[in-house]
Amino acid sequence: MTSLLDLAPGAARAALEAWLAHRGDPAYRLAQLLPRLWRRPVRRWADATDLPAALRQALDAEWPLPSLTLEVRQTSRDGTEKMLWRLPDGEAIESVLIPEGSRRTLCISSQAGCPLRCAFCATGTMGLKRNLAAWEIAGQVRELLLGPEPVKPTNVVFMGMGEPLLNWPAVATALTLLNHPDALGIGARHITVSTVGILPSLAELAKRPEQFRLALSLHAPTSALRLTIMPIEKRYRLPDVLEAVGAFRRRVTFEYVLIAGVNDREEDLAELARIAKSAGAMVNLLPLHPGGAPGLVPASQRRLASFAAGLRRRGVEAVARRSRGLDIAAACGQLRVMRGDAGGEVPPEPHGDVHEPVRVGERSHHPDA
Ligand code: SF4
Repeated sequence: MTSLLDLAPGAARAALEAWLAHRGDPAYRLAQLLPRLWRRPVRRWADATDLPAALRQALDAEWPLPSLTLEVRQTSRDGTEKMLWRLPDGEAIESVLIPEGSRRTLCISSQAGCPLRCAFCATGTMGLKRNLAAWEIAGQVRELLLGPEPVKPTNVVFMGMGEPLLNWPAVATALTLLNHPDALGIGARHITVSTVGILPSLAELAKRPEQFRLALSLHAPTSALRLTIMPIEKRYRLPDVLEAVGAFRRRVTFEYVLIAGVNDREEDLAELARIAKSAGAMVNLLPLHPGGAPGLVPASQRRLASFAAGLRRRGVEAVARRSRGLDIAAACGQLRVMRGDAGGEVPPEPHGDVHEPVRVGERSHHPDA
């Protein structure tokens, strides 16, 4: 049976309206039920004690509310919190909550695992387990509202496990649930979709009227170099991706994990500056996690700073991020990999990291980078 949490607000309203009418319940009940899905959520209908007990029982029987089970919650010394969620079928996903001043950015997953195997990413080592349903994506925010100390994220970034544009139908609904005033009500400009550039879904995202932010996981300024660290380059070539991003008609951020001797050379800097300028993009420079991927060495903090300065000298807005949550393996995929939850496909190789959230204007990428 379809879950009400998998439906956009209009569809959930229609389903409940019809159900109430069929039962002969008064129409005003609808206004009591709908906020319990997302705005003032309950874990189960039995907890909505403003409703008659018989109605709650019927709702739990006919419209059970699925939920994620919190398996691990770790807090870093810098306040970054990492959550490992168990899904109803036993798969596991992660979210990372990054506080910074009055902002609370939640980095969410869109797939369990990821099929794309970027060389610098813990999640990529797992392969794809499965796509998440819309409720499992938006549910990562919903669960925080249900906690003993409810937290409402101010910003959401699709930079956890998975490539969101490989799961477009569910991500499209999840975007509505995150943004719609009758659901979670987070402003579109505070929601960033980060992608390696899956062209068909990128075109769909560009058609959305809401001003969702876009971040491109770039990591290499040329097709040839990108091919060495991101296998997706074989399918969607960088020049085509850049053209699609140009058609997006919104400010875009390039995410760029700096790997010593791989993509941090002067010629990389010059080429990155050229394509960022031509796309009007700002660049988010991210440190590779000190653990690193096999054979990949993080660029030094000094190089990160000088690379950012070099971009700025060439007229490109650039920010060098510092790592967050180093002591809790806060990069996406790390916790699950480290717990041996990767399905035995690969040995644990923690790498990547979470980076400070980006400001409105906004930028980002798969942080597991
Ligand atoms: S960086 Fe993103 S797209 Fe690449 S393997 Fe990791 S999760 Fe997948």
